[in-house]
Amino acid sequence: MTGTVVVVGSANVDLVVDVPRHPGPGETILGGRLRRSPGGKGANQAVAAARAGGADTWFLGAVGRDDAAELLLESLSGAGVRTDLVARSDEASGTALIWVTDDGENAIIVAPGANAEVAVDDAARARLPGADVVLAQLEIPLETVLGAARARRDGARFVLNAAPSRDLSPEVWDEIDLLVVNEHEARDLAPAGGALGAAGATTAGGSAAASTPAQLARALLEKVPAVVITLGGDGALVAERGGEPETVVAPPVTAVDTTGAGDTFCGVLAAALADGATLVGAARLAAAAGALAVTRPGAQAAVPTAAETADLAR
Ligand code: ADP
Repeated sequence: MTGTVVVVGSANVDLVVDVPRHPGPGETILGGRLRRSPGGKGANQAVAAARAGGADTWFLGAVGRDDAAELLLESLSGAGVRTDLVARSDEASGTALIWVTDDGENAIIVAPGANAEVAVDDAARARLPGADVVLAQLEIPLETVLGAARARRDGARFVLNAAPSRDLSPEVWDEIDLLVVNEHEARDLAPAGGALGAAGATTAGGSAAASTPAQLARALLEKVPAVVITLGGDGALVAERGGEPETVVAPPVTAVDTTGAGDTFCGVLAAALADGATLVGAARLAAAAGALAVTRPGAQAAVPTAAETADLAR
């Protein structure tokens, strides 16, 4: 693959411990061995874009001046991501405290730390016009997401993975060339009324709750020119204004850990688009990469190589 991707977003150290059950208020319980691994949506997606092969991938983010920062930077550069645009903050590196019960249910607390300080500085402003694709998520300040989108050159694509869900300003909506969301996020963001109302959703005025992915995609196309809704084991729905929505399958796999599947999808999608792939072609590769990611534990550690993805997508 060729082309340049700039990923703008968060980097977090994931601290994971297995527990027999969730602790109650005021309760202390003993857990299993502590695992520490690099994560954060932005960093995960940058690793996925770089590992997709060939795309020149830059990460615009911020880390602290602590041990966690070294783990995060090593993982990025180990995957081939350029880290020149990563700022050092006096805040702690972003940290996700995660506990997982025996039945696989997890609970997560994120302390954003340095991620709250990700900004479009002069170095970023100089680099962003070189990008074919600028890819962002919502774990960093919205003004940074907007600033990065506005710093791209004409013809470069701004891809927003609107995760985790939060309200977007009209200015951000205006910049989006491609929105990537899972089904929950699609329900949160789809405008009520309009396509949802016309499609006969259950409540008066339209409701996202009972809508199908195709209805949600149509509603979102009122706001943005292209949408991809990821559907877990069912793959993804790709929709562009003026065309019929198309489903892309995820190859069947045995899932062991779904952490990072959506991030792998977004990173590979961005790399393939920067390389000139069509949206459906890029989504096919991304769905295969996402499927491989769920067969392995961890976030960045689970991201497949280009060769593995190509084998499965074939
Ligand atoms: P998120 O993790 O953001 O909720 P999804 O669960 O939709 O995102 O997963 C993203 C992509 O990962 C899917 O589009 C699919 O390609 C792949 N994927 C996720 N779960 C599975 C699964 N059980 N089997 C095969 N592929 C999967």
